Amino acid sequence: MTLLTFRFAPSPNGELHLGHAYSALLNQQLARAAGGRLLLRIENIDTTRCTPEFEAGIFRDLEWLGLEWERPVRRQAGHFADYQAVLDRLIREELVYPAFMSRGEIRAFIADSEKRGRGWPRDPDGVPLYPAADKALPISERNRRIADNAPFAWRLDVEAARSRIGTDLSWREFTDETLSATRHVEARPQDWGDVILARRDIPTSYHLAVVVDDALQGVSHVVRGRDLYSATGIQRLLQELLGLGQPDYFHHRLVLGPDGRKLSKSFGDTGLAALRQAGASPEDVRRLVGL
Ligand code: GLU
Repeated sequence: MTLLTFRFAPSPNGELHLGHAYSALLNQQLARAAGGRLLLRIENIDTTRCTPEFEAGIFRDLEWLGLEWERPVRRQAGHFADYQAVLDRLIREELVYPAFMSRGEIRAFIADSEKRGRGWPRDPDGVPLYPAADKALPISERNRRIADNAPFAWRLDVEAARSRIGTDLSWREFTDETLSATRHVEARPQDWGDVILARRDIPTSYHLAVVVDDALQGVSHVVRGRDLYSATGIQRLLQELLGLGQPDYFHHRLVLGPDGRKLSKSFGDTGLAALRQAGASPEDVRRLVGL
């Protein structure tokens, strides 16, 4: 029998807060209950925002909390060649295209359309979808711009990808913290439009790296916050395109701040380091997050 595998996958672009503590401790609790494995993965592909100091802070906070994970830890920035290989395959299969519009051009394009009384679709996070005008660019023009060093991002052609799959997708979602039952959720990657899968100088994005790594590391259970619930639609599509196995998912509740809002990385007193310095114990943290 294969062992169930859980993972906690923070990004070292800020300090850990109570929301991270809940996620990490819940993963540990579920892995232990199942006699399974717990991996820690450092998601540091954003080389401008992720720092070694934040990474050191993550290790300090998690050790203090009493989390135990397998070693070695996969650090995504050390594996760009893995993501590049997958990206090359998507390029060859014409499932991604170079998108050249700058943020300003996207804004102007959408404002223009809205001025003419046409609404513009937004993704589940409220961000306007990419206009996808570059899809019509002739190959010669694409190549000319790339050769001229024009900035671009590789975007998934979500319609081409969906027709390649040719069937509706879903995922199995656990219904509560005890993982006692599952239900099927319809995957709706189209709600996100043509998402970015890689940048000119970084051969991956969050979505691409996460599906590649979850498969490579044999993750069977993805337990993470509800804020990533709808993003799972994109990740299911990528798993299917790349012929990767699919984990089961549980998107847990978010720990909210005193103002009822989602915690961010620029919070004050809900940071784990700040709580520790103020004399809180790991048991206090468990109680604060309801575990
Ligand atoms: N690295 C992501 C974050 O810190 C989490 C990714 C995931 O759990 O799929 O928000």
